[in-house]
Amino acid sequence: MNKVLVLDSSKVTTLLIQKALQQGGFVCDLAQTYEEAEKLIAENNYFVGLSSVVLKGVKAGEGIDLFIKNNIPAIAVTSTLSEDVLKDLSKKDIVDYVLKKSEHIDYIVRTVRRVSKNRGLKVMVVDDSKSVRAWLSNILGRQGLTVLQAEDGADAAEIFDRNPDIKLVLTDYTMPRMDGVQLTAHLRTLRPSDELSVIVLSSDSKSGTAPLFLKIGANDFIHKSARIEEILCRVNSNLEILELIAESRDRANKDFLTGLWNRRYFFENCEPVYKKCQEIGHGIALALLDIDYFKKVNDTYGHEAGDMVLKKFSTLLREYVGDKGLPARVGGEEFYVMLNSVAPDEIVPFLDGFRKQVEELTVSFNGQKIKFTVSIGVTSDAGGSLSNMISRADDLLYEAKTSGRNRVLSS
Ligand code: GH3
Ligand code: MG
Ligand code: MG
Repeated sequence: MNKVLVLDSSKVTTLLIQKALQQGGFVCDLAQTYEEAEKLIAENNYFVGLSSVVLKGVKAGEGIDLFIKNNIPAIAVTSTLSEDVLKDLSKKDIVDYVLKKSEHIDYIVRTVRRVSKNRGLKVMVVDDSKSVRAWLSNILGRQGLTVLQAEDGADAAEIFDRNPDIKLVLTDYTMPRMDGVQLTAHLRTLRPSDELSVIVLSSDSKSGTAPLFLKIGANDFIHKSARIEEILCRVNSNLEILELIAESRDRANKDFLTGLWNRRYFFENCEPVYKKCQEIGHGIALALLDIDYFKKVNDTYGHEAGDMVLKKFSTLLREYVGDKGLPARVGGEEFYVMLNSVAPDEIVPFLDGFRKQVEELTVSFNGQKIKFTVSIGVTSDAGGSLSNMISRADDLLYEAKTSGRNRVLSS
């Protein structure tokens, strides 16, 4: 669902915006009248809407209200930034306003992309003033963010425990029970600043306050007198930085073709899990999977078809394993899976269930239907080290291959 609706009476502007958004990877519908937009909204699911402030046939601002009424985050498009227009816009629950000028089209695409990425992102507002909380929650909520509210640092710490997927915390300084400094310090013991952004919003104007926060790990400090636009720009740029860091981390840890974890990540993460399981006597299994006669897939259908098979296989593997373990692509058509949450007597049936799903899978490529199978070797014998487990599973995989393929062999 990556659909945007642009409502504007001028065909020239809408076409320009549509082209830029399409290049940005969005599906973009156009409406020239209020009625057309109403009809499209009834029939489609838009995650964001852009409306010109002035529209033929209706009062100024009504197009924007149409989106808001339908719970669609709205971006106002205006040809002037006169005081009157700004004053009217400030009363509306919009994401942002943008200027109807070709040099502002990049900003439009960036804003739409931001709203798209904000879907499902959790942020927390911490302030002992109920009205400040409500005000901030409203402006962040309009950006498509999911906003949680806490009334002081202690409350925030509890909420964070239950919602470890919170990406950004916007906190006040002076609060009862636990203040902003204590909260920031506490959050930093749980998450580094490149995984969780902490922004302080304070009315304290002592010159030492901002450095105090920055030194204990706050990402940013904003004075409470700042305009909404400034708060939003800083929230957005902090979220963008977190995303860039996560993306570069993914590039280092994930296999480019399939998006599965790579060999390096697998070992980095499995060694500690292996050691921990050994210490507490918890069972662990290691499986090696290799697609059967994969070379034949390439030879028969071409390398691109082979890539498609690898992608579909990997998606199936990731979904099937879920949170029961860690799957990785370690070579061409070879995969490792470490399982640490499947009961010992369930491991073979679990992997055999996957083997069957692969057997039933059909990959379509250029009108051709491709079928294939997988062989699996798995061991639950901890064997003194992770690499011993791998070589045991490798022997079993070899046996699975030589004894006919499309099977799971275990020790
Ligand atoms: P077996 O059942 O014994 O495993 O036979 P196989 O053909 O699957 O195994 P083999 O190791 O002989 O061939 C693997 C092939 O995988 C050879 C290589 O060209 C191909 N391959 C490796 N990486 C990729 C890739 O990223 N994309 C595609 N399309 N092919 C790849
Ligand atoms: Mg193979
Ligand atoms: Mg192979």
